[in-house]
Amino acid sequence: MAQYFSRRNLFGAPLWLAAAGSLRPTDLYASYLASRHGENYRQIGIRPLINAAGTYTTLTGSVMSDDARQAMFEASKCFVPLVELQQVVGERIAKLIGVPAALVSAGAASAIQLATAACIAGKDPDKIHRLPQTEGMANEVIMVKQHRMGFDHAARASGAKIVEVDTLEELHKAIGPKTAMLFYVHIYEPKGKIREADFLAAGKKAGVPVFNDAAAELPPHDNLWKIVESGFDLVSFSGGKGLRGPQASGILVGRKELVEAAALNNNPYSDTIGRGMKVGKEEIMAVLKAVEVYMQRDHDADQKLWRGFMEHIAGEVAGTPSVKTEVYIPGPGGHPIPYLRIQWDEKKLGLTYAECAKKLSDGEPRIEVNTASDEINLASYNMYPGEERIVAWRLREIFRDAGKA
Ligand SMILES: *Cc1c(COP(=O)(O)O)cnc(C)c1O
Repeated sequence: MAQYFSRRNLFGAPLWLAAAGSLRPTDLYASYLASRHGENYRQIGIRPLINAAGTYTTLTGSVMSDDARQAMFEASKCFVPLVELQQVVGERIAKLIGVPAALVSAGAASAIQLATAACIAGKDPDKIHRLPQTEGMANEVIMVKQHRMGFDHAARASGAKIVEVDTLEELHKAIGPKTAMLFYVHIYEPKGKIREADFLAAGKKAGVPVFNDAAAELPPHDNLWKIVESGFDLVSFSGGKGLRGPQASGILVGRKELVEAAALNNNPYSDTIGRGMKVGKEEIMAVLKAVEVYMQRDHDADQKLWRGFMEHIAGEVAGTPSVKTEVYIPGPGGHPIPYLRIQWDEKKLGLTYAECAKKLSDGEPRIEVNTASDEINLASYNMYPGEERIVAWRLREIFRDAGKA
């Protein structure tokens, strides 16, 4: 089981799973637990969970690939010059992806902050020292109004003043001598009125750097280079979501001059805005490995595997009266991976969506899903092979017992 995320073994189902079809749920569960090694969490009173919700930071993002985990372990054993390591790994990641330059950050939010610092202070040591004070510097960051989100705090933390625009016309008007950076959020394109290409073109025309936050936008894997290829000067990705690197890692990719400026605003240098977002040798080496593995993965096989998880669960619960299921891939504004929507008549079944989610979360093993007012919703991305059987079994059990005291 521990081998699942390595490429070699993607479909090499572990022995216990081969027998799982003939096991009773309790045996299946015991076998599952033995395979997942969550004991250190249990010892301190934390119950590990089956993540059928998605790559949420609060549920710890994703789980590292075996290769990344091993790289982290090996990296932890000896000393290296950290500045040199950042440089070499940045170059290697850039080459692997096919972008001009890359920098390892402490997460995508950290990449947002560093991108902003790079666009405000550049490589000027005095300005780097003064951030987040920005007197005498261009410090306005323009965002589409509907793209405002918690993570734009990271841009403000570098001293940026956010200027909101609603229409393309407003955008053109807002760009001026005080503009430091244009900030787009890739997944929010459908929310606003300004198309990504138009936003980009406005920045290009004015000669202002344009940044795109694509933290959780893997898959599709080609986002890794396509957003830069399309013309964005800087793009951020979370290392602990789609890439399956360490949770506390990210990458900033893009134009060489700006990535270099970001690096100068970053740790390990002490007198920088980035010093509090330190990345250690362990994260740096692990994120390099995560990118390597991600570039070689069979992404179509992943999609098939994930769809299989969702279809299995859908098939298992289909017989329950009033239960409806749908396996689907969200359109623009969603993550292109298979999800499963389960709906039922709450009155007929004697079970609300919230109650169902609570029972999944309170039970053993703990299972986390998404709830809405009219469905429970499962994401496939973070599930291990075999877990779809456990989720299906728990759901059937909950449905069977619904309405009973
Ligand atoms: C998750 C996320 C971030 C933050 O990523 P971290 O790697 O956790 O710092 C930023 N922006 C968006 C859109 C995200 O989904």
